[in-house]
This record gives sequence, structure tokens and C-alpha cells, in this order.
Amino acid sequence: MKYDTIIIGAGVIGASTAYHLKRLSPKKKILLIDKNNKVAVGNTAKSAALYRNLFSSRTSQVLANSSISYYESIADKISLKELGYFWMLSQDDYQKAKTGLSKLDEKKDRFEFLSVKEIPTNLKLNTSKSDEFSEVECILYGHRCGSLSAIKLARYYATQFQKLGGVIQVPAKIKKINLTEKNRFYPPWSDVKIDSITDHNGVDYFADDFIFALGAWTHSFLSQYGIASQIYPQKRQMFTLKIKPDQIATDIKQRIPILVLPTGGVYIKPVLQNSMVMVGSANELGNPFQMDANPPTAEEGYFKNAIEPVLNHYFPHLKDYSIFSKWAGYYAYYWPDKNPVIEKISNIQWVSGTSGSGTAARNLSMDEVELFDETKFQVADLSLKKRNVDAEELII
Ligand SMILES: Cc1cc2nc3c(=O)[nH]c(=O)nc-3n(C[C@H](O)[C@H](O)[C@H](O)COP(=O)(O)OP(=O)(O)OC[C@H]3O[C@@H](n4cnc5c(N)ncnc54)[C@H](O)[C@@H]3O)c2cc1C
Repeated sequence: MKYDTIIIGAGVIGASTAYHLKRLSPKKKILLIDKNNKVAVGNTAKSAALYRNLFSSRTSQVLANSSISYYESIADKISLKELGYFWMLSQDDYQKAKTGLSKLDEKKDRFEFLSVKEIPTNLKLNTSKSDEFSEVECILYGHRCGSLSAIKLARYYATQFQKLGGVIQVPAKIKKINLTEKNRFYPPWSDVKIDSITDHNGVDYFADDFIFALGAWTHSFLSQYGIASQIYPQKRQMFTLKIKPDQIATDIKQRIPILVLPTGGVYIKPVLQNSMVMVGSANELGNPFQMDANPPTAEEGYFKNAIEPVLNHYFPHLKDYSIFSKWAGYYAYYWPDKNPVIEKISNIQWVSGTSGSGTAARNLSMDEVELFDETKFQVADLSLKKRNVDAEELII
């Protein structure tokens, strides 16, 4: 079993990397591996799958805009819905976001500000403040934002990869990597690289290059081999509520955008035709960078304490709902700046949070990659050694 390149991890990142690598180098023998028995069963399957183009960092702007153009080109295959974002800002949020927003162009980036008076009257939103919650000052209405199916997207990439002759091996849980110098106290003058990897059945897979697209498992796996990726897992929880649609809006035939509330990073993805909303939030300080269990569980206590009070304040008509389903997964953050990473040591490459074409380009030793919308992107900007990214200021 000798390949040119093996990609370990078949989430959206691994699958897109596999597709782009095969597209750019059709003659290469490429294998995509995952420990689950299907593509996109890891954290890709846990995602709320919301997308936006509104970022202050130039890196995120370029990658998001080009990715969205690609998603739009396959919209029907990935259930893309350009719902828009209603990002509600308090006076304080607005002041904090001002510098970030000044790096965007209203026309080109397709957003506008709505004053409280301009909020569509069908939305049963309470904009006033209480002791605990801020008043809604204005709404940042992003038009090039919405939702899609992350599972369909990852599987679409995987299918395209297979159509080009790529091979997928599932389930194959990689238990260890075998370095050319077996003794871990290898002499520093000899070059060390991966020779092969071994799965849970003891099967060895050989290749010239290995790309690890392990998402939240990146740190725990690679740190065993002396690679400090600094990509750490952090738990995120989602809750689907069975509601009466008229508790959110009077007319649900009108498009209801994704609602980002001014407090606690709480957001609502409307699925009103099914009388449901999906809600999530992002808690940071106090939420450890570690995996507590796999699969992790979503806690009703977290919903009651962290999310429900915010919902009750801003949507006071939203009452008597039941939790229809709940789940949790892990985000994978590169801690210093939370931007994507593509890095390589010897014949070991690792990648997190980025589009596959950049990873493929790095693997092929290309300095520059042309993204789907024909923008040119310097791949080394996402490396650790020559990193060139600006910190993101528009964080939900
Ligand atoms: C609750 C939640 C909500 C989210 N909402 C959004 C959102 O709205 N918008 C957004 O853009 N992002 C969102 N995300 C983040 C998004 O899901 C991730 O950024 C994305 O799915 C990461 O893809 P990945 O391919 O890196 O990881 P994964 O999909 O986790 O893929 C990694 C793969 O590696 C495999 N693997 C691990 N170890 C091994 C091994 N030893 N051998 C073989 N295979 C292995 C795993 O099985 C897995 O399939 C959310 C995440 C969560 C948890």
C-alpha cells in the first residue's frame, strides 16, 4: 500500500484538501483515511454550518469570499440558503466593532446598518434593555451570509475526489506513525520522516507525504511525535427547540435571517417551516481547551444558565418550548490568533480551519495559490514560521 500522499481525517478540511490535491496533480496516488466509517462524521457533522463574509482580517475576508463563491456555484448540492445575518449590536458592541467594520466596504461586502426603527415589524424582537441585557442599538445586516449543509459539502468534495481517481479508506483509525528512525532518541544528524502509519487493525500505509487534517484531535495526536501544533479543542453546544413560529415572527413566509443576539454570543438559526430554531453560543473563558469525553454531551444546565435568559429577554414571546435535540462537538482553535494554519515539518503537514486549495498548494511546494474567485493567496501567510495574519476583530 504505497501512495504519494495520505490525508488523515476526512472532515470538510481533509475532504477538500484531497479533492484539490488530486485536481492539481491528477497523476498522484492519493489516499484519504478516517477512523469513522463515513466521510464527515467528526465535528463537521456537529456544525451549525453558518457562513459569513464579514471579517476584519484580510486573510479571513479573502478566504471567506472565495469559499462562498464556490459554495454558491454548487448551491443546490449543499443546501445553501443565503438567509443573511441580523447581527444585533449594543452601543458597546458597535464601538468595539467600529475599527473592524471600517475595513469592510458596504457595497462590495454587501452589508448595511439598520436602525432600530428599520427592523422588520414582523420580527417579535425586544430591543430595549434590562438590568442584565443591553439595548439593541443597531443591526449589522450581512447579505452574503447564510447556512449550508456541512456534511453535504464534505461528501461532495469526497465524491469529486473519488471521481478523479482518489481512494478513500474507512474506517481506519491511525494508531501510530512510524518514523524512518525507529529509536525515538534518534541522532540529530539523520533526517527523520514518516515512513508509514499503522491503523487499528495493524495495517501499515506507506507514502511519501502525510497530511494530518485531524481538526480537534490535532494536538493530542501530533504532540506525541514532538509537533507543537497549538491547535486545541474547545467544546461547543447546540440545542434545537420545538417552538411556535409566531413566537419569533408574525409572518414566517417572509425570509427570517440568522439572528445574532447582543449578549453572550447567542445565535439563532431559524428552521421555522419545521417549527424549530437551532440555538448556540460561544463560551470562552472557563471553557477548557480539552476533550472531556468523546462524543461530548450537551448539557441542559448550560442551556438554562447561559442561553435561555438571553433568548427570554430578546424574544419575550418565545415561551413553552421544548428541547427537541441537543449535541456538542469541538472547535479546533490555533490558540495565538484563531486563524487557519497550514504547516509542514519534514514530510508531515498539518492543517486546520482553512480551505483545501491552500493545503494542496503547500503540499505541492507552491508559494501562491489561485482561489476559486481567482484571488491570489500566499500560502506561507498561514504557516507558523512565516505567519502573516491580522487578528480578527469581528467576533460573535
Ligand atoms: C457545535 C458546533 C457548531 C459549529 N458551528 C459552525 C458554524 O456555524 N460555522 C462554521 O464555519 N463552523 C462551525 N463549527 C466548526 C466546524 O464544524 C469546524 O471548523 C469544521 O467542521 C472542522 O473540520 P475538520 O475537517 O477540521 O474537522 P473534523 O470534521 O472533526 O474532521 C477531523 C476528522 O479526523 C478524524 N480523525 C481523528 N483522529 C483520527 C485518527 N487517529 N485516525 C483517523 N482519523 C482520525 C475524525 O474522525 C474526523 O472525521 C462548529 C463546530 C461545532 C462543534
